Amino acid sequence: MILEIDEKITRAADLISRASSITVLTGAGISEESGIPTYRGEGGLWRDYRAEDLATPEAFQNDPKLVWEWYEWRRGIVKEAKPNYAHYALAELEGHNPNFNLITQNIDGLHKLAGSKNIIELHGNIWQTRCTRCAIIEQNLDVPLKELPPRCNNCGAIVRPNIVWFGEVIPMPLIDKALIAIEQCEVMLIVGTSGVVEPAASMGLVAKQTGKIVIEVNLEPTINTNFYDLTILGKSGEILPLICKSGEAYSYLL
Ligand code: NAD
Repeated sequence: MILEIDEKITRAADLISRASSITVLTGAGISEESGIPTYRGEGGLWRDYRAEDLATPEAFQNDPKLVWEWYEWRRGIVKEAKPNYAHYALAELEGHNPNFNLITQNIDGLHKLAGSKNIIELHGNIWQTRCTRCAIIEQNLDVPLKELPPRCNNCGAIVRPNIVWFGEVIPMPLIDKALIAIEQCEVMLIVGTSGVVEPAASMGLVAKQTGKIVIEVNLEPTINTNFYDLTILGKSGEILPLICKSGEAYSYLL
């Protein structure tokens, strides 16, 4: 049965409003309307490098300054960015649901700025550094950075972004936390992710296999779309306030 977009929105809103527990997974697409380029979109390119060429331990080992220059560029963009209606809609949804978890692949911190609380940042945070020698994690909000590459305040060694790069593994406790959140939810909402980077890419499939209702919001179909219960094509900043509506959520649209 092919549903019109209005019917899909009504159905999703109904499923979400009746769910006793909700887990959300977000990707770069949710921050696109805040002006942060997605990784695989055209705006994600920097000096002709792809993210996949720079966000690796090998790239950092070869040229830490180059990798930090790229992060400095990204940090400049993120610093200017504000949460959009999609981030706010999720924060408000959490306010109405005691059993709510938000898993994000994003490193931009915009969910927290919007007021979300129960956040699992799978890939780290762009405002944190981790020392390559003593492993201390520090917050660093400098844009521009005082030195490139920046150094550890504790031991003076070079620090790296506290981000999970390609070829690295997400710390197991974080994956466990995400899987428990999926196991405990009734409805899973997946927003703005292409579904090509593991393990997040498989999380919606895990939810489906364990009997959850999975709703996807994306600009275009993804490789997992056919497995989900409902996919709504459109901008998350427009769709989420409608499907997460619970009275005040409408205030965004007035
Ligand atoms: P992606 O760029 O692969 O996909 C973005 C998705 O969002 C696309 O499917 C696109 O259609 C959709 N989209 C774009 N604008 C939208 C909008 N306004 N509303 C709804 N959907 C929209 O991003 P991803 O799926 O998050 O990539 C997976 C992860 O890979 C990233 O989140 C990131 O953590 C990781 N990654 C990390 C680095 C790094 O610096 N460590 C670099 C590259 C990728």
